[in-house]
Amino acid sequence: CRQRHGTDPCSFFHPEMAKQMQLEYELNTMFEDSIKKRDFQIYLQPKVRLADLTLSGAEALVRWIHPDKGMICPSDFIPLFEENGKICRLDLYVYETVCAYLHKRIEQQKDLFPISVNLSRAHFKDLNFLRKFSELKAKYGIPDGMIEFELTEYSFLDKQQREMVKNCIKQMHRLGFHCALDDFGVGYSALALLKDFDVDTIKLDRQFFVDMTNPKAQTIISGFIEISEKLGIHLVAEGIETKEQMELLKQFHCEMVQGYYFSKPLTIDEFEKWKDTMQKQKVFK
Ligand code: C2E
Ligand code: MG
Ligand code: MG
Ligand code: MG
Repeated sequence: CRQRHGTDPCSFFHPEMAKQMQLEYELNTMFEDSIKKRDFQIYLQPKVRLADLTLSGAEALVRWIHPDKGMICPSDFIPLFEENGKICRLDLYVYETVCAYLHKRIEQQKDLFPISVNLSRAHFKDLNFLRKFSELKAKYGIPDGMIEFELTEYSFLDKQQREMVKNCIKQMHRLGFHCALDDFGVGYSALALLKDFDVDTIKLDRQFFVDMTNPKAQTIISGFIEISEKLGIHLVAEGIETKEQMELLKQFHCEMVQGYYFSKPLTIDEFEKWKDTMQKQKVFK
């Protein structure tokens, strides 16, 4: 995965920028075709409840599996599609894929688990965007509480948009969706958001866990855990990669974790195998 270039208006022209522009042109041109051919796939990453090491849900993360270019990571196309609005179409596609998957599990009489879907801030430009989501929820017969939308602080940056986001969250709840604040704690107004917006879950950004032996980091993490408990909001620690991080979080009574320590994002088939193995062998106990 590569960094984007050329977003700084003061930077001089760089050969990398020409390559970047060429890539962006190609990605834009391929988009519709790839949606039609279902070249976008969802990967699922488990969220694990620390108290009993059971599966508490999964996050759907999009991957672009291009027949010629191979796997393209979200960081290569999400920022581009956020700029030109294509992200709304892609998010809806990811969401419908998740609905279809849950629907299939219902038909096969398999157990259900909640799945989180990332929503770009771009959706909040159109007041009616939730209608389509709720129609699909009904079409696929998805029970309430099975889908959670993850919003980042970017959705809350625009003052004019804030009222709308607040109403959207209310409406999400009325329609049976849950709502999570993603990458929590790294923006400038994280705590104020908790006061003003009625979210169900916060996902504490992985930056906090990079150096967990640092006493200050520990105080901040346990502080966030305490705040979330007192507010009655669920908390997920993101990007947990080591046993040490996991053990410390257990001591802090952290509710849920997500990260490579338990599993990378997996294809649906891989995820189901992972889930069965975990349940049968209790591999993490
Ligand atoms: P995110 O929603 O915060 O998702 C978590 C990202 O962290 C994922 O990257 C995941 O693969 C990665 N991750 C998980 N565990 C670990 C870990 O232990 N260590 C490290 N270093 N990384 C870990 P991914 O899949 O590349 O996605 C990046 C971002 O792209 C996501 O961040 C999300 O903001 C966005 N994204 C992904 N899929 C979608 C989508 O369908 N719609 C929208 N709007 N955005 C999406
Ligand atoms: Mg997310
Ligand atoms: Mg996140
Ligand atoms: Mg992130």
